[in-house]
Amino acid sequence: MNITDTHTHLYSSQFDEDRAEMMQRAFDAGINRFFIPAIDSTYTDSMLQLEKNYPENVFLMMGLHPTSVKENVEEELAHVKEMIDSRDFYAIGEIGIDLYWDRTFLKQQQDAFRTQIRWAKEKNLPIIIHCRDAFDEIFEVLETEKDDKLFGIFHCFTGTIEQAHRAISFNMKLGIGGVVTFKNGKIDKFLNEIPIENIVLETDSPYLAPTPYRGKRNESSYITQVIDKLVDIYGLTFEEIANITTQNSKDVFGI
Ligand SMILES: [Zn+2]
Repeated sequence: MNITDTHTHLYSSQFDEDRAEMMQRAFDAGINRFFIPAIDSTYTDSMLQLEKNYPENVFLMMGLHPTSVKENVEEELAHVKEMIDSRDFYAIGEIGIDLYWDRTFLKQQQDAFRTQIRWAKEKNLPIIIHCRDAFDEIFEVLETEKDDKLFGIFHCFTGTIEQAHRAISFNMKLGIGGVVTFKNGKIDKFLNEIPIENIVLETDSPYLAPTPYRGKRNESSYITQVIDKLVDIYGLTFEEIANITTQNSKDVFGI
């Protein structure tokens, strides 16, 4: 069985004390493909180190996270461009718009999102979208960028069924993680109406741990809690969910 975690920050300093043990727990649970989103230039070295330690299992993305879009956005984008021009990555991400923490840099966030979408298209790469309190703003950019080169994943999807259909209409798969196990997570109520071909699994670890670990540090092995919930929602077996969502991840990332 192959389980794919399409979004996990394994390089986070929260794993510095026990990364090898944490990785082993994931391998033991059947998770052997880990897609690693970037945040900003301060994490690049630790991402490259992670790849060096797990070359068969770790697949890196590159991009500038919307909460890292600040006064130095031009420098940060130049770093992303330099990296994607110097070696291969599997996606541009995570990119998008986040208005939960701060609206100060909305314009810069929109511009950085659009710039990075265009880089992804140039390189035939998927985009991994981070959206927080910003569905309208994200859809506005996607609407103008929509074409046959636009595809990717709407990471940590937490919207309504209408927003799910809209995201899929832009050639996006929905990244489903811990939120689907939350009592008030809402997406579990309609997910059975979304064909499973549109779903990929993720943890977003160390964030967003599923029930019963909610509030604690998340790790990739906990993705099994997400699969258990999808077993209930879709009426498929654990193995079927694992295999179908891994195939979906291959369709997106090309590996
Ligand atoms: Zn993330």
